[in-house]
Amino acid sequence: MNLDKFLIKLQRFNSNEQEFIQSVRIFLSSVQEWISDDYRLKNAAVLERLTEPDRVLMFKVPWLNDEGKVIVNRGYRVQYNNTLGPYKGGLRFHPALTLGTVKMLAFEQVFKNSLTSLPLGGAMGGANFDPKGKSEAEIMRFCQSYLLQLWDVLGDDIDILGGDIGVGSREIGYMFGMFKKLSHKHNGTFTGKSPDWGGTKLKAESHGFGVVYFLKSLLSGYEDSLAGKRIAISGFGNMAYGVIKKANALGAKVVTVSGPDGYVYDPNGIDEGKLEYLLELRATSQDLIRPYSIEYPGTLYHEGKKPWEVECDIAIPCAIQNEIGIDEANSLIENKCTYLIEGADQSCSEEAVELFAAKGLVYVPSKATNVGGVAISSLELAQNNMKVNWSELEVDKRLQDIMEHTYDLCRKFGLQPNGQIDYLKGANVASFQRVTEAMIDQGVV
Ligand code: GLU
Repeated sequence: MNLDKFLIKLQRFNSNEQEFIQSVRIFLSSVQEWISDDYRLKNAAVLERLTEPDRVLMFKVPWLNDEGKVIVNRGYRVQYNNTLGPYKGGLRFHPALTLGTVKMLAFEQVFKNSLTSLPLGGAMGGANFDPKGKSEAEIMRFCQSYLLQLWDVLGDDIDILGGDIGVGSREIGYMFGMFKKLSHKHNGTFTGKSPDWGGTKLKAESHGFGVVYFLKSLLSGYEDSLAGKRIAISGFGNMAYGVIKKANALGAKVVTVSGPDGYVYDPNGIDEGKLEYLLELRATSQDLIRPYSIEYPGTLYHEGKKPWEVECDIAIPCAIQNEIGIDEANSLIENKCTYLIEGADQSCSEEAVELFAAKGLVYVPSKATNVGGVAISSLELAQNNMKVNWSELEVDKRLQDIMEHTYDLCRKFGLQPNGQIDYLKGANVASFQRVTEAMIDQGVV
């Protein structure tokens, strides 16, 4: 197969969607060999079918702000592929959100969901809406307007919405309320609901816990452990919270956190007390990390910088896509970082990923490490369907099992003839194989 030709054509049809092209290109280079050996995949045109979403919805979201002014945002929902189950994926409310980002996230979600071995297809949506600085009433009006445009194409066996950046249990609550009113259905069309009325325990921690559970399995594969490891992370949102909490519990030390204003280096590590402080800081909705360094003397605030210049054993980007480019990758290597575990979706650029491979730094892509978020969503759906409410222990145990299984798949499919493991290839080939076999079973639809 001529990958270059295929990608040129894809680029022509999807110009301006660089993040989508990037994710397809990285993916295809991993599965290329697999495809060329299998005439069934070629005959079924799986690549052509997998690089075109089933359906793209793009719509206006008009709403009234508190001054009575009409504001118009752009909403999206990309129902990418439902071969393995109903469309499932989050919603992101972020001012810089574009169709290219949503398509990239939806494409990644198809394979992420496949890796979990759960019966879920892939989707993603959101809007270029910035929840920062909005009143409670504005958030509610926005969520209701967004949902009005979408509710008739949703359902617990059609398309199931969840959270992502800018969308938590508050936003899910407002959308769920409107959905229920319009559809007369009180079911699992949404995940990320408040644990008080249909949500699951551990939702807020699940993404970060999942990343650390994956990391724990990975390290034990190298006869290593988290004890005493210095971890650099970015962000201070949900994922960062879960990572810090679980990393502490397993004896590691997280030495950085960051916001859009810069990062803080805390050589003593972020303990439970500081973690509580971070939660308070997040609740102010200011999105600034600087106050942390004022609160805790002995820490260093670096304005306008990213944390990838500190010495660490493990780096876990937890903020946003492409936050690690070639410069940051070089700096991590110089600082003797051994493991790069993507937390945020597609946190590393293509050049960074290539550099890690060339320099022997162990790199694991987000589609493997951060499946904890969607895994917990599936546990929420299971509880909704069975009308039960599992304990934290029960949910945590199931989450760990899913993460271990995901790790095992990546290891099995990533094993190279020289005995080393290519986790990128492992994650891509394992997830691709499950989706494509099901596509062949289900015919050309
Ligand atoms: N956006 C989250 C993820 O990447 C959660 C998706 C969901 O729960 O549907 O996995």
